[in-house]
This record gives sequence, C-alpha cells and structure tokens, in this order.
Amino acid sequence: MATTPSNKMRPKPPLPPNLPSLVATAFSRSVATKTVNFYPTSVTLLTINSIPFQLRYSPSLASKPKPPSVTTPKLFFNPFASPTPEMLITPFGTSPPSHNLVLNKFAVVPEHFILSTSAFKPQTHLLEADDLAAAYACIDAYARHNKELFVFFNSGDHSGASQPHRHLQLLPVENMKEGLEGEWDVLAKGLTDPNTREKLPFEVFARDIDGLGGDGEELRRVYLELYNQACEAVLGVAEDIKHEGEAQISYNLAMTNNTMAVVPRLTEGGVVKDKDGQEVGNLALNGTVLAGTALVRSEMEWNALREDPDQVYQVLGRIGVPNRAKM
Ligand code: AMP
Repeated sequence: MATTPSNKMRPKPPLPPNLPSLVATAFSRSVATKTVNFYPTSVTLLTINSIPFQLRYSPSLASKPKPPSVTTPKLFFNPFASPTPEMLITPFGTSPPSHNLVLNKFAVVPEHFILSTSAFKPQTHLLEADDLAAAYACIDAYARHNKELFVFFNSGDHSGASQPHRHLQLLPVENMKEGLEGEWDVLAKGLTDPNTREKLPFEVFARDIDGLGGDGEELRRVYLELYNQACEAVLGVAEDIKHEGEAQISYNLAMTNNTMAVVPRLTEGGVVKDKDGQEVGNLALNGTVLAGTALVRSEMEWNALREDPDQVYQVLGRIGVPNRAKM
C-alpha cells in the first residue's frame, strides 16, 4: 500500500510526562526565588468590533530587555543559548534534544513558558517541521490533562520579537482566563470562520489543523501555505517565495490544538492618547494579538485604552495589511 505523508512513520518528539505540573512546579519555584518576574497583572475585557478582547496591564513588562542592537550583537545576552537550571523546565525532542522548554523570565500569565531550539537558529528564519511538531506535542501534552495551550511565534522587525534565538511561546489558556469577568476565549480558535476574520481590521490567514496528528511535516505544509498567503498580501503576487532560510516578511504565527493562523505584520503598533488627545504611550502588539489579547506597560496607557477602546481597533488597523473583506 502506498504511504501518504500523514501515515508515514516519522519520529515524533517524546511527550514530557506530566508537562503541566512540571511547568507549574518550575514556575512556582522560580517566582519564589525571584528568578522569574511575575507580578499579578490587571485584566479587563473590551469589546472590539464585537470581538471579546482582553487588555492586560503588566508592570513586569516595563523591565523587559530591549531588542539587541545590530551593531553590538556580542554584548547582547542570549537567554536561550544555555538556560540556567532554574529557568530550564526540560530538554525536549528526539535525541539529542532539539529543543529546550524554559520559563519566560517576564511571565505575562502564570506558567508562561518558551520552546527554544537547543542550538542557535535565527528567529527570522522559517520554522522547521521539528519546531512545529515540538510545539504541537506540548499542546497535546496539556490536552491529555484537559488543559489548553496557546502557542505563538513572533518573527521580524514589526512582529514584536525581541530575542534573536529561535523560540515559540506557550501560554496556558486557563491562566489567561483568570481574573476575567465575562466571556472570552482564544481568538485564534475561531479564525477559520470567515465571519470572525471579517470583524478584524487586518488580514489573517488560518487553517484547521485538527486531524494532522501533530505531524511536523504536515504542520509545516499548512504553515507554508499560510506564509505564502501572508507574503502575497504584503508583497503582491510573489512568484519567488522561498520556503527555507530568512522569512521575507514580518509575521506572527498562532497555534492551538485545532487552528494555525498567520498574520503578516507591517508595524509593531501605534500611539495611545488620553481623552485630551495627549500621547501617553505606544501600544505594541506581538503574537498574543491572535489570542485576542493586548498588553500595556503603563498605567496611563491602561487608563486611556479602557476609557476609549476604539483606540485598540485603530491600532489593530495599522499593524497589518488592511482586511480586504472590509474594503
Ligand atoms: P520575543 O519578544 O517574541 O522575542 O520573545 C522573547 C521572550 O523572552 C519574551 O517574552 C521575554 O519575556 C523572554 N525573555 C527575555 N529575557 C529572558 C530571560 N533571561 N530568560 C527567559 N526568558 C526571557
């Protein structure tokens, strides 16, 4: 019988047993020793063009390192090159381990963690099948405990990325819901529905990945399809879209157990003004936008956006390619 790509035997990264409790234990330990900065965040629910959107105010973001200067790369500390035992949750992947699971030092919700490549690989290069398989294996490991993970990836100057060593970020969805009053769910889960996409002011491309069994090659095929669409939205009809090496655009990727989504990015965000029209900050968005989440660093931005949620919609309209469904 002929073997199709989906039923070929491919090595899959072994699932870390009990991953949710492994992450929870490492997180509590590191918060107690102050290795991880986590301050409870304020959170509120906004309605952005009928989409429930959560706004978070996280003071810990204010102490995050700035992106490396291209002129001084040697001076830049790479937290994923050789994670300390306090930050390392577990090495991961087929032998020798291809990836590490590490805690995020600036957690936006409890148990925010990171999947980084063991050896240095550029964040701006296209993801490989084993990156996607490893991320999906984490989603699967949580699903076995009836828990959900939201995975995101920021790549390129306009994507909200800050670290050049390749990494995807993982957020336990139940922790994203904590403290919220009202109905909210991960936006990416609904993005295969054109009616949901139509409500957004930016173009986003999404596919159902349920049923791919977490197969890395299959996930990469879908990823490249979405990436092609994103490139075409930014570059026009592009005949020369490369599927290896450096990505040709900035973008964010999101993955849940059933959906993969890619949003091409043109800017990182936009200004925030108070009710007197004075600039009080800048709303910068990364891949968490595909969860239906925006994070602010200052109390002034937090107050201004709660008073005038339409500013969030305006910024969303600037971060990517204007949505053709709305034109
Ligand atoms: P990005 O901004 O998408 O490149 O993601 C980099 C992530 O690394 C951010 O979410 C940071 O909070 C996180 N981070 C920065 N420094 C460290 C560190 N020393 N250890 C662990 N995570 C870090």
